[in-house]
Amino acid sequence: AKGEGKQAADAKTATAAVDEGKDYVRANATFVTLARNQDIWSLVKSIRHVEDRFNRKYHYDWVFLNDDDFDDNFKEITSSLISGTVKYGKIPKEHWGYPDWIDQEKAAEVREQMRQKQIIYGDSVSYRHMCRFESGFFFQQELMKSYKYYWRVEPDIVLHCDVDYDVFKYMEQNAYDYGFTLSLYEYIDTIPTLWNSVKKFIKEHPEHIADNNLMKWLSDDNGITYNKCHFWSNFEIGNLDFWRSKAYTDFFDFLDHEGGFFYERWGDAPVHSIAAALFLPKEKVHFFDDIGYWHVPFTNCPTNKADRLKLQCSCNPIDNFIWKGYSCTPRYFDVMEMKRPSEWHQQS
Ligand code: GDP
Ligand code: MN
Repeated sequence: AKGEGKQAADAKTATAAVDEGKDYVRANATFVTLARNQDIWSLVKSIRHVEDRFNRKYHYDWVFLNDDDFDDNFKEITSSLISGTVKYGKIPKEHWGYPDWIDQEKAAEVREQMRQKQIIYGDSVSYRHMCRFESGFFFQQELMKSYKYYWRVEPDIVLHCDVDYDVFKYMEQNAYDYGFTLSLYEYIDTIPTLWNSVKKFIKEHPEHIADNNLMKWLSDDNGITYNKCHFWSNFEIGNLDFWRSKAYTDFFDFLDHEGGFFYERWGDAPVHSIAAALFLPKEKVHFFDDIGYWHVPFTNCPTNKADRLKLQCSCNPIDNFIWKGYSCTPRYFDVMEMKRPSEWHQQS
């Protein structure tokens, strides 16, 4: 199997040193959460899961970002729960709002049409600003600049299993740039012209496309059409330098000018996913089978029983989404030519 080389073992054995309380040198990494003050009670549950299952041993930093000021209540509660250094940042106006080339009347008409079609978040302005921010700006925030790796955490998520090794060092040692737990098919009405824009970008910037990329995971006809597969970005463990790269910043700027964040409802998940799949060689994208995770309504529950027992998982294996029909992860295994965990067929 992939990712079980010698270096991977180093990140895993390093846990012992942490448990013994010896001086532990962390990777250059942080958790990052975008939230509003009113998200506090959904967020405390996520934080408890992350601390109990992982961070109580490692004490990584946590950066909170908001388009508004965080209030004292939010800061007091979050900082009391987190075992690492906590930082709070306010997003600058340029990163949360309409760029000047966007026709706001046209955007409003689209929202009304999407409201009538009952497209999820179709009528929301703030959701669009959020998706554009997560696509183009989270990694540019002042508080994020000094870090190399991040783990994105949202309100109301569950970690179902212990994460019993330093995942950031694991990313570093295996030279992974993007890690995911869930992947699925996107709702096409939110991104009808995204793939056309991607194809235009590829024509303009062929130099950004990696050899040995994951195009086969995105497309069944070698790039003519998009099969809608994307990594679910509410969970990401990644390398910030990838988002800061020329390839990605060119890509985001191009998409931003296409207008689809406002004239459609492009999500940061397909945008991140298409970039990771095309600009990275495929061996830099890692699937965390062992991180038991839930974000409504999907679960990643480690496929093999031995892993679930070892990691003290609380998930019902029947709920594992990974091998089900709407998951794009089986396709990822095929493109990667990876062997599936031995018990996968019990959950399909
Ligand atoms: P969903 O998972 O797609 O249903 O979207 P969420 O409601 O979970 O939002 C995604 C992330 O963005 C979460 O971390 C939210 O806390 C955050 N978020 C969403 N809208 C806003 C907003 O208007 N302001 C701020 N500061 N955070 C937001
Ligand atoms: Mn969410």
